[in-house]
Amino acid sequence: MSRQIIVSKFGGTSMGSCEAMKRSAQIAKKFDSYLVIVSATSGTTDQLIALAKMASKGQMDESKALMTEIQNKHRKITEEARSSTDTVQILEGFFTELDLLVQNIALLRELTPRANDHILSLGERMSSVIFKDIMTKTLPDKEVRLLDARSIIRTDSHYGRAIPLIEDIGKNSAEKLDRHDNIVYVSQGFIGADREGNTTVLGRGGSDYSAALFAEGIRANVLQIWTDVAGVATTDPRIVPTAKIIPELSYEEAAEMAQYGAKILHPATIAPAVRCEIPVFVSSSFHDSLGGTWIRKVVKEQPTVRAITKRNKQALVTITTPKMFNAFGFMSEIFGIFAKHRISVDCVTTSEIAVAITVDLATLDHKKLIDELKEVARVEIDADYELISLIGNDLHIRPKIAKKIFSAIEDTNIRMMSLGASAHNFNFLVKESDSVSVINKLHKTLIEGL
Ligand code: ADP
Ligand code: ASP
Ligand code: MG
Repeated sequence: MSRQIIVSKFGGTSMGSCEAMKRSAQIAKKFDSYLVIVSATSGTTDQLIALAKMASKGQMDESKALMTEIQNKHRKITEEARSSTDTVQILEGFFTELDLLVQNIALLRELTPRANDHILSLGERMSSVIFKDIMTKTLPDKEVRLLDARSIIRTDSHYGRAIPLIEDIGKNSAEKLDRHDNIVYVSQGFIGADREGNTTVLGRGGSDYSAALFAEGIRANVLQIWTDVAGVATTDPRIVPTAKIIPELSYEEAAEMAQYGAKILHPATIAPAVRCEIPVFVSSSFHDSLGGTWIRKVVKEQPTVRAITKRNKQALVTITTPKMFNAFGFMSEIFGIFAKHRISVDCVTTSEIAVAITVDLATLDHKKLIDELKEVARVEIDADYELISLIGNDLHIRPKIAKKIFSAIEDTNIRMMSLGASAHNFNFLVKESDSVSVINKLHKTLIEGL
């Protein structure tokens, strides 16, 4: 194949209407994308989650109303796009599949994780079939093929947040994808299948990750992430409207940003790109002339503070026991419990007899984890926090940075902080009610230099 291998991922807002889909198809045409990965139309995954929950409670009237909403939204796009009869039929088949699933769940009053993933997969399967049709019309000289992501993205069977099996994905990509200058594939983000063929999903926001896994599998030259903002900004533009798009980011900085809450990238996205050194370009499908952000191995500038991120809904778990005094092995016992329950720990600080750990608030629903921790120590939980992270370079060795940070937010109570493990981040936990003002103050001082 003589052309560059470009994987282009379009997020939910880029699939949100017929117009948005047409604009996205024009972008794929302009860049001669080989593989296009799409998310569900915006809001659909949330609706499917709600639908499955309603069904499990037997709320048939509510679930019928929601199903009609989902159907109407997709039918409207097919009408405006004048989709082919085949496309409309496939879509109607998906509606029937959804209806059957909902009825069965309602009948049993039981929603298994496996059934939930299957329901969620319909969002991406619906958008991709409509988008494939629009792509076919936009690229009359190409052969546009719909590719079921489940035939490539092999995962384990941890429903809700399945782990991809990288070797299988590489093998499937090599075996099942034709390399030809004239072919364009359209496939789904977010979804995969385990070795038994059951549908799985990669976790919320997982379409970015899917696109990166595909890019790794086919050894792409470039991975493009098309979204609703013109690249990765110095902080979420919804929090600080004066945030600026960052022209270039290193893999390390991007990985830290994603890990610590920049929603624009799924936390795992960067790993496959790094493994194969694939440059990633992030931009807006709404204004593709505005440029964007390149994420790559080597970048020209390495500012101390590049960006500020916020991780929402955090809790601080403090584990205290006198057993830790002058003892060894206790940390490993505690972290062993987190590992056993597959809970990732974000920030950690320790004193002689206590360990404080930040986790996503949702972790606290995991009753078994908390009970097991309580068996070995006293556990205190503080909720309503947010984790603010400064992302940059050599943060651990720059002398005046601490003074700047603490002077900017001197009135704020910092509940916990962590610096030193990485050269690229400085994290601190503040009350949810303080976080927006903290980010604004830090952005002004550390990024705008005011
Ligand atoms: P998509 O549906 O295309 O995947 P997302 O909603 O997942 O889009 O991600 C895009 C959103 O990420 C933006 O609208 C923006 O509000 C948010 N965001 C958070 N942090 C940043 C940041 N540092 N730069 C740009 N966008 C950010
Ligand atoms: N549709 C999925 C979600 O909303 C995946 C994605 O959009 O990245 O989480
Ligand atoms: Mg996203």
